[in-house]
Order: sequence, then structure tokens, then C-alpha cells
Amino acid sequence: MKRIERTGYSWNDSEPEMRKSCEPGKIAEKIIELFPRIHDDTDPFRVLICTILSQRTRDENTERACQRLFQYFKNIDEIASADPKDIEPLIVAAGMYRQKAQRIVEVARIIKVKYGGKVPEKLEELLKLPGVGRKTANIVLSVSHKIPAIAVDTHVHRISNRLGWVKTKRPEDTEEALEKIIPERLWKDLNGSMVEFGREVCRPRSPRCGDCPVSKCCEYYRARSSDGSGP
Ligand code: SF4
Repeated sequence: MKRIERTGYSWNDSEPEMRKSCEPGKIAEKIIELFPRIHDDTDPFRVLICTILSQRTRDENTERACQRLFQYFKNIDEIASADPKDIEPLIVAAGMYRQKAQRIVEVARIIKVKYGGKVPEKLEELLKLPGVGRKTANIVLSVSHKIPAIAVDTHVHRISNRLGWVKTKRPEDTEEALEKIIPERLWKDLNGSMVEFGREVCRPRSPRCGDCPVSKCCEYYRARSSDGSGP
């Protein structure tokens, strides 16, 4: 795979060096460097709506639904005055389309009326919007408003636990724990890069540990190597 081929990192095996190079901040930096995610569209309203559409569906479905939606409804005014029934057929690909159409219209109306058409820049305000949880709110903050925030989705949660950075059951706990160990300057890029890394290498099932550029710093890898079960 393209991204794995251009990794080529060799870690220094000497203990103190190893410990230093395995600090979460250093590993996060490597993952961000090796698995960059470029956001073509950072418009706050579109990012918010597309992230709501992305809930419980795959990226390719989100992209299709998002594209179709904004092809027909160009902006917040058009969505705020739309009948959800007219939105439903455009976002079928994203799944749960009836519920999502309702939410999208509702969110557009609230932002228009309560916030003068501007997507809030405060986490607490974003969390008041229907269908907006911490992950969605943090994505809007980091991608659109360039405010440091760690959006924890299934990839970030899984990989952080595998690497041994955190020992958490819930994404909210992961977010809190990561904020303590990842330098703030890396927060906004962490989600996108972890998603790429999680898709290509540290997959939910059958992670490609043999091709992983950070395997030497990974607890999961070390445990599996020492008990002889893999990788
Ligand atoms: S070594 Fe395996 S489990 Fe650990 S981060 Fe890499 S791919 Fe994921």
C-alpha cells in the first residue's frame, strides 16, 4: 500500500532512546505525518451536516449523501426552509435517512434563528444541537474553526487502547485521557490521521501489525508477540 511503503521508519532499539521515541506525542506525530488527511471542505455548516450524516455509516456513503444533499440544497437557508421529506431521498446512502433528514433541518433552523446562521465555536453550544455529540462537535471545532479538540471516534478509541496510550472503555474517557498525554498542537490533526491509519493498517479486525510503522511502541503487538499468538 502506498502509505505503508513510504513509511520506512527504523526505530532505535536502545532502551532510553526507545522509551523516548515511544512517547505518545512522538507516535501521534509520526501517524499524523505518515497518514495525513486533507480536508477539502472546511466550511463549518457543511462539515457539521456531513458529520451528522456520517454517524453509523461508512465514509463512502457519507460522501455520496453529502454531495447529493449540497447539490440540491446549497446553503443553510435552503436547508432550514426545506421539508425533511425532500431531503430524505438525497441522503439515503447515509442510512437512518428519515431521522437524519429531520435532524439536519432542525439543526439548520436552530443555527439560523439562534446563532444568526453561524455555526457555534463553543463545544457547549454545539452539544445543544440535536444529533450532535462530542465527536461531531470536536470535528467541527478542529476542522472548521481550527480550535484544538480531539474528536474520538471508533478508530481513535481502538488505536489509542491498542497502543497502550489509554485503558478506557468509553470514547469520552479516551478523549479526556488523550488530552493529558498528546500535545495540544496535535489535537486537531489526530482524528483524521488516526482514521486513515485505522483503515489502512490498524484495522478493527486483523490489524496489519507486520506492516505497522509504530509496532515497536505498541502494547497490543508486544503482548501478541510474547504470547506467540501473532502477529
Ligand atoms: S502494531 Fe498492530 S495493533 Fe499496534 S498500532 Fe500497529 S497495527 Fe495497530
